[in-house]
Amino acid sequence: MTEVALSCKCGTLKGVLHDASPSTGTRVVCYCKDCQAFARHLGAHAVLDAQGGTDIYQTLPRNLEITSGAENLACLRLSPKGLLRWYAKCCNTPLCNTLANHKFYMVGVLTSTAEAGKDALGPIRAQVNVNGAIGGGVKSKGQLKAVVEILSRQLGAMIWKRTETPLFDDGGTPVVVPVTLSLEERRRASETPKLPPDLL
Ligand SMILES: [Zn+2]
Ligand SMILES: [Zn+2]
Repeated sequence: MTEVALSCKCGTLKGVLHDASPSTGTRVVCYCKDCQAFARHLGAHAVLDAQGGTDIYQTLPRNLEITSGAENLACLRLSPKGLLRWYAKCCNTPLCNTLANHKFYMVGVLTSTAEAGKDALGPIRAQVNVNGAIGGGVKSKGQLKAVVEILSRQLGAMIWKRTETPLFDDGGTPVVVPVTLSLEERRRASETPKLPPDLL
């Protein structure tokens, strides 16, 4: 089984993606404004590509293990009903996204957290929410297939009871309390910088 080592920028929070492969997860680039706002709010613009895309590996939460520095795990939401966006508060590194409902067995891990072994995740297979791409011109691809793969992993997790997660307790409560951004914080994080992309 292939493992991919994960780390926050400062190296305090570390983790591992177990069973990492193109068949156990789907690598997508999401161009949605919310993923961009998440990165910008944390001052982590470097995780975005030139057009604001976030490179994410979608897999079962059980494949994610936090091996050290878990006390630095933090969670924010851009709105009261938004995704749970997990990050390392030691150095404001965005880590991953989940739905608020722990029974949806999907975590989207930012591949920018991969220290080594990223090749095991395979190539980027989908470009989604391309309407949010800075400067436009990004072609949507693979979105339907990515959704089908999420659903098939969901079904497999339910059938084979592969439902463990390091991000929620047994009762389905997030292991850290998510903080929802204020409207003002969200507005600020959502502003597309009026800079050439290479200066983002
Ligand atoms: Zn850190
Ligand atoms: Zn997104």
